[in-house]
Amino acid sequence: MIQVITDKPGYSYDIHSLVKAFFPAEDVFVFEGRMPESKEEKQIYVSIPEGDDRIAVKNRIKQELYRRLSGETGRRLPWGSLTGIRPVKIPMGFLADGRGEEEIASYMEKTYFCSREKIALATEIAKRELSVIRRLEKENGYSLYVGIPFCPTTCAYCSFASYPLERFSDRKEDYLKALFQELSSVSELFSDRPLLTVYVGGGTPTALEAEELDRLLRTLWNLFPMKEALELTVEAGRPDSITKEKLAVLKEHGVTRISVNPQTFSQKTLDLIGRRHTVEQTVESYALARNMGFTNINMDLIMGLPGEIEEDVLHTLEEVKRLAPEDITVHSLALKRASRLKIEWDSYRAFQMKNTDAQMKLTEAACRELGRLPYYLYRQKNMAGNFENVGYAAPGKEGLYNIFMMEEVGDIAACGAGTVSKRVFADGRIERCDTVKDLDLYISRIDEMVERKRKLFEG
Ligand code: SF4
Repeated sequence: MIQVITDKPGYSYDIHSLVKAFFPAEDVFVFEGRMPESKEEKQIYVSIPEGDDRIAVKNRIKQELYRRLSGETGRRLPWGSLTGIRPVKIPMGFLADGRGEEEIASYMEKTYFCSREKIALATEIAKRELSVIRRLEKENGYSLYVGIPFCPTTCAYCSFASYPLERFSDRKEDYLKALFQELSSVSELFSDRPLLTVYVGGGTPTALEAEELDRLLRTLWNLFPMKEALELTVEAGRPDSITKEKLAVLKEHGVTRISVNPQTFSQKTLDLIGRRHTVEQTVESYALARNMGFTNINMDLIMGLPGEIEEDVLHTLEEVKRLAPEDITVHSLALKRASRLKIEWDSYRAFQMKNTDAQMKLTEAACRELGRLPYYLYRQKNMAGNFENVGYAAPGKEGLYNIFMMEEVGDIAACGAGTVSKRVFADGRIERCDTVKDLDLYISRIDEMVERKRKLFEG
């Protein structure tokens, strides 16, 4: 455990994020202007400088703290003192103001100590996003997100709304009923606005039976102007949930993009993280989707999984290259508080969970070799190696919802348990409202969930 003591309040969140970036496996507590009751072995004192400009003060605190922690640990972080989840926003802002790449590099290097490589990556992505974003700029356009929180089993690293079918399949019917009520209300709220993208995620949407999926997609087509949407993504996700019947339903309802997520092609890792599917199932599901005519398939990979070494990563990348999906999303493992990996930390402690610069470079090289170029990037707290998640895609196959969401292009109406809707106002202000994550509460309090969204988007 690490205790951080500050002499003034107001900057705990930023300080906490940066200390965590150096020590992701440690519990970090920040005490504002007071000493903790019990003293831990590692204590860090942070003095807050005077100043009225909050951003300038924050940057000074983080620069100073970064220098100290970097000196003590002998480590430099790839993103330096930058702890926000959207580093691409910085080059985006510079480019939108007509400022050049040198200016971006100099600012990010001096202010945040970002590495040259990360600056180049963020700038490349910002340029690509700016060119794709034009397709998404329709006055008052919005995106629809639909959450299906069921999964075949719960993976050890997961902290999403995910209810394993074994225990929760009897709730599916009531869940769909509540979801359809929410969708119906949203369709009324947005009836005069252009629908840009639709994303059905989770959980694992294909944990639903073919007939249930059919009802869900039919409902979407009945309620929304689906024909005008530029993209309809369904996360098939877990290969053990994919069947020919389900893919046929997706095809019949015009789904343009799906995910078949291996995470890794190492069977021993899959077993360890509780994904309970085989590598063969991934390959078979992917081949099935290809043969049925899906031309935009995403694969999610995770770097830093327990016990994985560079050889495992190389093997996974060889398989990915052989299969050649249009989209590849490379995640760095994030140790989330609600995940089993964190809760049952002691049983996983023995395994290395390390993402390295070398592994990130290998994935980038493999993606580029396939002609898949980086097009969106985000960071999470507590990521292995303090790296990032990057989406790569063949030109023209970029996941539009991902860009829409990441760059806050417009409103997102999100329906389903544990989802977050977002309203983007003309002046750039953003307001959010969530739905409860708990399945039973979502079902029993659906009227309230509907009302929350009405309040957010009306007026
Ligand atoms: S399939 Fe995805 S949502 Fe479901 S438990 Fe695994 S990581 Fe979580």
